[in-house]
Amino acid sequence: MDKNLNEKYDYNKLLEKCIKQIPEESYTKERFEMPILKTIIVGSKTEVSNLLEVSKIIYRDPKDIIKYLGKELASPGTIERQKIIFKGKLTGNMVNTKFKRYVTDFVLCHECKKPDTKIMKEGKQTFMKCMACGAKRPISKVG
Ligand SMILES: [Zn+2]
Repeated sequence: MDKNLNEKYDYNKLLEKCIKQIPEESYTKERFEMPILKTIIVGSKTEVSNLLEVSKIIYRDPKDIIKYLGKELASPGTIERQKIIFKGKLTGNMVNTKFKRYVTDFVLCHECKKPDTKIMKEGKQTFMKCMACGAKRPISKVG
């Protein structure tokens, strides 16, 4: 073996050693963090200021989220100047509890817990397919 090749080999070996030394935790570190919706009560209404941003993180149409939350909170929501307005006074806790359920039921893959999922239809049945691990499961209609 000439010198160059030898060094290359050692480097690969070293790299392999390094990878092995990384504790397993690092691989699962990328775990999904549940986004928190920011809410504020204004008069008799509740404003959610970051729903549009959050919808991008979870790859969902904000309209779907608003529809779901509106139904669950018994308070229809509308988009006004980048904010979502719900009728009635809703606490952050109420809104986020429902939102968390939406994310758990309609966004996160039940296999790998990642949010890289897509909603797709096959005939009358709606499925959620995970782009990360390929898992697919039927879901009831959103909202
Ligand atoms: Zn998955």
